[in-house]
Amino acid sequence: MATTAVPRTAAKGGSFLIEACRPEEIFTPADLNDDQKLIGQTAEEFVAKEVLPLAAELEQHKEGLMPALLKKAGELGLLGGGVPEPYGGSGLDKISGTVLAEKLSSYASFAVSHGAHAGIGALPIVYFGTEEQKKKYLPKLATGEWLGCYCLSEPQAGSDAQNARTRAVLSPDGKQWILNGQKMWITNGGFADVYIVFAKVDGEKFSCFIVERGYPGFSVGAEEKKMGIKGSSTVPIFFENCRVPKENLLHEIGRGHIVAFNILNVGRFNLGAYCLGGAKKVLEAAAKYAKERTAFGKPIGAFGLVGAKLAEMAVRIYAVESMIYRSAGMIDAAMSAAGAAADKTQQLMKVLEEYAIESSISKIYGSEVLDFVVDEAVQIYGGYGFHEDYPVARAYRDSRINRIFEGTNEINRLLIIQMLMKRAMSGALPLLAAGAKLQEEIVAGPQFEEPSSGTWAEQERAVTGAKKTFLLAAEIPRTTRRAAGGCRRAVEHRDGSLRDGIVAAPGPEGRCAPRRSRGGCHGGCHPGLPLRRRRPRRKGSANGAGGSG
Ligand SMILES: Cc1cc2nc3c(=O)[nH]c(=O)nc-3n(C[C@H](O)[C@H](O)[C@H](O)COP(=O)(O)OP(=O)(O)OC[C@H]3O[C@@H](n4cnc5c(N)ncnc54)[C@H](O)[C@@H]3O)c2cc1C
Repeated sequence: MATTAVPRTAAKGGSFLIEACRPEEIFTPADLNDDQKLIGQTAEEFVAKEVLPLAAELEQHKEGLMPALLKKAGELGLLGGGVPEPYGGSGLDKISGTVLAEKLSSYASFAVSHGAHAGIGALPIVYFGTEEQKKKYLPKLATGEWLGCYCLSEPQAGSDAQNARTRAVLSPDGKQWILNGQKMWITNGGFADVYIVFAKVDGEKFSCFIVERGYPGFSVGAEEKKMGIKGSSTVPIFFENCRVPKENLLHEIGRGHIVAFNILNVGRFNLGAYCLGGAKKVLEAAAKYAKERTAFGKPIGAFGLVGAKLAEMAVRIYAVESMIYRSAGMIDAAMSAAGAAADKTQQLMKVLEEYAIESSISKIYGSEVLDFVVDEAVQIYGGYGFHEDYPVARAYRDSRINRIFEGTNEINRLLIIQMLMKRAMSGALPLLAAGAKLQEEIVAGPQFEEPSSGTWAEQERAVTGAKKTFLLAAEIPRTTRRAAGGCRRAVEHRDGSLRDGIVAAPGPEGRCAPRRSRGGCHGGCHPGLPLRRRRPRRKGSANGAGGSG
């Protein structure tokens, strides 16, 4: 099969803010090769022919139907994309995985179930499993013989996931972990066979375990009554002295947060792709309806206000599509390079962290564009948009969850800033150098240069200006001065959330950490002072984005 080789380099995560790149370095859907297109086509046809005709029964939770469809998808190779070939998967490249997610999304409940299994359910074992764990679980997860899910949230710990209360202690004979606690909102939990469960060893060390349905002391609660994605399974899971073999610890004791949040980076990126596919389908339906429905003797699409809605939907979908495939291209290039390294798994983990910013952006913007699109589609359908017999009512209900799970959009916004600051302070991203350059430009004053010419000169100026505005709004030049003054910990939070590079939920205030024992802060950044000091913050404000203001 013919393939196109697109020369791409792995630009650094977050570098889009300060660097320009050449058009040929950016991946777009036009660059998809035949194999990648075929994967997308197979996925789209599967949902159209096998899943959508059963949507009404799925929405009623017909016993066994969703797992049967997932298994059918497994037979076609649609579940094992993330699993390497030696373990029975197809080891798809990042771009193919993105196409797959986009094209599976015509029915949101199926897309969510697919993501919970093939993404956050299976990938923890791919990236963190021992050889024995991989051999035991991955071949069955890749084909759908076993279905998986991911159990992080608890009734009292959602955004603040590391505040989990589920405990694990080693049995007196040292052969088993004994788990006690409860997980909440677990997608696929009603029918899964393999549960990735986070619990604190001895109530302190956040860790991760592979738990199988049927282990003694494991039980599943009733299906939650949800606003949308009604065809998916969402249940609480209970552990009452649940006995888990010792060898089912995943990764290391006390390093569960590394598993949790790196895997969520993949989930978040894919969620953006699912949202993209959903938005395209809704636009298609709304455009068709606008042509067919007449009012005042004309198709409603002929009215400027309706046409403008369709145009705006298309504009935002185009933006989200460009963003997601550009990022997929970068991640893919970085993963290809990491794949050749001797310590491949370690390097792949670094790639996931490298693009945490892009993953959060994909999740936020994808989910917000989809929400915009479904809302406008309901408006175009008028009263029929409010009726369950028409397609957009379900799409409207289904869309809403995307801003909540895989880290709420608020938490993801905070993570973007925290990761940027962490990367700036560690030197991984030359944000401070860009800030210093901008500082010089500001001090030098207007240059009155000849404006550049060319087809895209205006657009380039606008984009460059927007990037500089970001640096100013984020007070990077100010931070640069501070860093030059020796305070490199200006954006560390009291909870130390930036130390490990993985941030669950930020601390309550954007303040410098008072580490007097290590020399404290210098250069105009006093311990305990809010980084942005011009306007005092209201007490209790939950702005943890420290350092950026
Ligand atoms: C249908 C569904 C499926 C799900 N599937 C899974 C799954 O498979 N596995 C799993 O582990 N979890 C799952 N979840 C849980 C989901 O990830 C959580 O609901 C989500 O992380 C939010 O947690 P919470 O509901 O406890 O809200 P909270 O954490 O209580 O947040 C409430 C509000 O406060 C805001 N907030 C919290 N902290 C801050 C802060 N520091 N700054 C600003 N705002 C803040 C939040 O953004 C939100 O708006 C699912 C949830 C649903 C509804």
